[in-house]
Amino acid sequence: MSAEKTIFKRIIDGEIPARVVREDERFLAFHDVSPQAPVHVLVIPKHEVRSLADVQAADAEWLGPMMVFIRDVAESLGLEPGYRVVTNIGSDGGQSVPHLHFHILGARPMAWPPG
Ligand code: AMP
Repeated sequence: MSAEKTIFKRIIDGEIPARVVREDERFLAFHDVSPQAPVHVLVIPKHEVRSLADVQAADAEWLGPMMVFIRDVAESLGLEPGYRVVTNIGSDGGQSVPHLHFHILGARPMAWPPG
């Protein structure tokens, strides 16, 4: 990782505030500052990983629990009619923060294809 902290690392370290939805020892969920849907929450690992493109086979140990954590967050937000989970990777993927994150978007119908 580069020496400069990402905005998400600064949230993890408590240097800038976030509207936290759920947290455990490995993962953090908080509201996106610029919501693209009535519910827009980000889920991040507390350790630094740039994106899904950087994960290795050994990362399956925490990636599985992260998927369950995301499901639990969505359930707690009352998104029974459905929701979308997205992770952007690199510049063409639209990733602006180089710390792995999953967007949970919901509380409105989602168009598909996304455009
Ligand atoms: P991405 O474009 O996939 O890298 O998504 C990064 C997301 O982080 C965007 O949706 C931003 O609105 C969001 N974001 C950036 N800074 C903050 C912040 N301080 N608190 C919450 N969300 C943020």
